[in-house]
Amino acid sequence: MISLRGVTLVYPNGTRALDGVDLEVAKGSFVFLVGHSGTGKSSLLRLLYREQRPSRGEVTVDGTRVDNMRRSKVAQLRRNVGVVFQDFKLLSDKTVWENVAFALQVTGAKTKDVRRQVPRVLDLVGLAHKSRMYPSELSGGEQQRTAIARALVNNPKIMLCDEPTGNLDPVNTNEIMELLHRINLKGTTVVIATHNALVVDRMRRRVIRLEDGKVVADEERGYYTHPGLREALAAPSA
Ligand code: ADP
Repeated sequence: MISLRGVTLVYPNGTRALDGVDLEVAKGSFVFLVGHSGTGKSSLLRLLYREQRPSRGEVTVDGTRVDNMRRSKVAQLRRNVGVVFQDFKLLSDKTVWENVAFALQVTGAKTKDVRRQVPRVLDLVGLAHKSRMYPSELSGGEQQRTAIARALVNNPKIMLCDEPTGNLDPVNTNEIMELLHRINLKGTTVVIATHNALVVDRMRRRVIRLEDGKVVADEERGYYTHPGLREALAAPSA
């Protein structure tokens, strides 16, 4: 579903955010992208929805090269790729319903489809009863669930989540992770960039670790803590 080959990203100011990344993510996977702040997690996600283009290398999403994709095709890519951010990025002057509907309307969806799809995803995220409220009237967890509904309404094949629980308390964090897990069980590939160790260690899913723009570990049922550090912590003290 996702493939990166020899991907390097150097920003115009000279920062090397990614450095020779090779990565394959299978359809239907649930993957964590971990690493310290500034190691290139957000940059890697940005390549996948063509917010950035790599300086070198190939990025393929759902069988299509996106690094050299024509501008006219980018809108279609973004329908296939839902994105969720730490700060929700909801439109404050629109209700929950309107925020979700807007994501469909910009793709030219018919009113009939908007009326069918919006309640479907609001039900899925458990917010049908709050559809007339504005973001400022919602808790952080509810705002994130609205953002997830908006990302889901176009039936994306991939959900990219950049620190989705970064602004949430532990209870809301658990709810959001359960929701993302359920979405994954319905077949959507989910990629989550996070430095929430508790979340990663509890889920025991694939963990890809970045350091200085390079993949330094990739474990099938991994933990947040770096394997080397785990060994050191587990070693009996002298
Ligand atoms: P992470 O998501 O792991 O915190 P980022 O991908 O945001 O890492 O950043 C990786 C590196 O690229 C950092 O050194 C950051 O300062 C730099 N960076 C990110 N975005 C830009 C940008 N638009 N222009 C220049 N440098 C950037």
